[in-house]
Amino acid sequence: FAPWNDPQARPYISFQNVTKRFADFTAVNNLSLDIYEREFFALLGASGCGKSTLLRMLAGFETPTSGRILLDGQDLSGIPPYKRPVNMMFQSYALFPHMTVEANIAFGLKQDGMPKAAIAERVAEMLKLARLEQFAKRKPHQLSGGQRQRVALARSVAKRPKVLLLDEPLGALDKKLREATQFELMDLQQDLGLTFVVVTHDQEEAMTMADRIAIMDKGQVMQVATPAEIYEAPASRFVADFVGSVNLLEGKVASRTGNSVVISGGSGAQISVENAGEAAPGAEVAFAIRPEKIRVSSKPPAEGHLNAMQGEVWDLAYLGDMTVYHIKLDDGQVVKASALNSARISDDPLTWSDRAWISFAPDAGVVLTR
Ligand code: ATP
Repeated sequence: FAPWNDPQARPYISFQNVTKRFADFTAVNNLSLDIYEREFFALLGASGCGKSTLLRMLAGFETPTSGRILLDGQDLSGIPPYKRPVNMMFQSYALFPHMTVEANIAFGLKQDGMPKAAIAERVAEMLKLARLEQFAKRKPHQLSGGQRQRVALARSVAKRPKVLLLDEPLGALDKKLREATQFELMDLQQDLGLTFVVVTHDQEEAMTMADRIAIMDKGQVMQVATPAEIYEAPASRFVADFVGSVNLLEGKVASRTGNSVVISGGSGAQISVENAGEAAPGAEVAFAIRPEKIRVSSKPPAEGHLNAMQGEVWDLAYLGDMTVYHIKLDDGQVVKASALNSARISDDPLTWSDRAWISFAPDAGVVLTR
């Protein structure tokens, strides 16, 4: 499933040069973005970056200051929220406290004037889908947080919207439940064949659930890509730094051959790397490399290894599955490296202030010009 790679595929939701201003504050700034049918799409960004505003404009609760939003080829301007084939699930869930689970789910269908028998059938289907059958007669206060979340979800999809918008849908759940619910949400989205657009500030959540992620900053999209592309080929220092942990080895391009460059750092140390992107000789660049791509050892790497540097263990943290090292290189730069504990060389237990070597392959990261 990758319609975004198919030049023939038509976007389902299209933000075209959308700007939203509140008085003199620009919350969304000339943003263009395409989302495809049946995609699980995540808007990821720090608080205040404009992601909720974007979602609210799609739902029709806010009107763009300029630009337009298309859904299935139709311009949504002037179409009120209730006439859009879009439903929004809020973080607070907003369940009716005095109504049973089934009455909560039936509420919107009743309002639409759906016949009684059809409502009963639809509610039963939703209860089953959300694994809530045995809770049908309970009221919200008799449910756990996770169950309430499932009721809210069942209620949001009962009307069969084409698009479900979720604003921080798992924000109220504790970590364990959140992780379990992420997979439930993905299953539900698959089963229903809906397009989901979720807003979150939690990168793990976005990485777990989404087909693609838009990384937002200051009302603009910094990169749109699959979780793997975002992690392994970030387009800028901002994206590299925003998602996961990264080392940005800064320097100037000394020379370029094909897709390889030699980068000189401030202290004169050089690294030879690939994935040079747009980097031209003389450009100020960063080589972005994830901690797990850096090898740490008390011994030097094999002779002829291109990128090897010496330093000392400045800090280390044992995290169960892995150990994270901060290595202070002899040029003063601190590099973060991590190693899976299952793969750690047992006779090489590096500890604080030990001398250490770091090394990495030329293709272990990407060169960034932005
Ligand atoms: P959060 O995760 O905190 O909700 P967000 O990325 O979803 O953040 P938005 O809710 O889209 O951010 O808000 C973007 C910016 O627009 C914020 O600085 C916010 O204060 C501002 N903003 C949102 N709605 C209004 C409004 N009705 N009037 C004035 N400013 C607003």
